[in-house]
Amino acid sequence: MAPLGLADWELVGVAPLVGSFVGVAIDRLPDRRPLGFSRSRCGHCAAVLGARDLVPLASWLAQRGRCRHCGARLGWFYPAVELAALGVALAALGIDRGRDAWIDALFGWWLLTLAWIDWRRLVLPDVLTLPLVALGLATAAAFAPDELGDRLAGAAAGYLGLWGIAWLYRRLRGREGLGMGDAKLFAAAGAWVGASGLPSVLAGAALAALAAAGAMMLAGRRLDRYAALPFGPFLAAGAWLVWLFGPLAY
Ligand SMILES: [Zn+2]
Repeated sequence: MAPLGLADWELVGVAPLVGSFVGVAIDRLPDRRPLGFSRSRCGHCAAVLGARDLVPLASWLAQRGRCRHCGARLGWFYPAVELAALGVALAALGIDRGRDAWIDALFGWWLLTLAWIDWRRLVLPDVLTLPLVALGLATAAAFAPDELGDRLAGAAAGYLGLWGIAWLYRRLRGREGLGMGDAKLFAAAGAWVGASGLPSVLAGAALAALAAAGAMMLAGRRLDRYAALPFGPFLAAGAWLVWLFGPLAY
């Protein structure tokens, strides 16, 4: 593959900054709080945070994870999201260069935000899923017009498919198993990987969810029939992997 160009180094450079913003979005979007471009105050002492407190990763390391003003532990949440965002960019550059890598990373960061919110809060906000559908179709229209039909079909099939599974589950079990947020996220997956990629997304997500449930049980966490394990993070992972590597061969 071609060596890294300027646009690729820029992608690596902005990734932790995007991660900071993703952290703010994870924190505030589910509560409909406004998004600034950064955290504004220390959560403990409410000191106003300035530029030197907010350099992604570096501030946290330099201050050894503590607030510069009150010494309270800052927790691992922000550095973890910033690191994950950097990981997304590096994975994208493992597959593509230039514009394609930026598109891979954009999709990855968006999915990371959704997955993290669903994991924490068991919700997939419309304000993130619906624009992701539009963005998938727009990138197809702009850069891959021959895929547009498959991706339109994917968005529709994704929504209806998961809606149908959720309906069946409700009929059979008498309770909600999947939310409409999952259906909208699956629609977004279809808008990116196309109808032809959706079976692989679902298969990958289901396998990953089963593996996670198995690992949690092995670790001694009791999962009864009613335990709510969010499906969004697994759908998100499946969608990004199929986007990067293509559908499973079968
Ligand atoms: Zn503080």
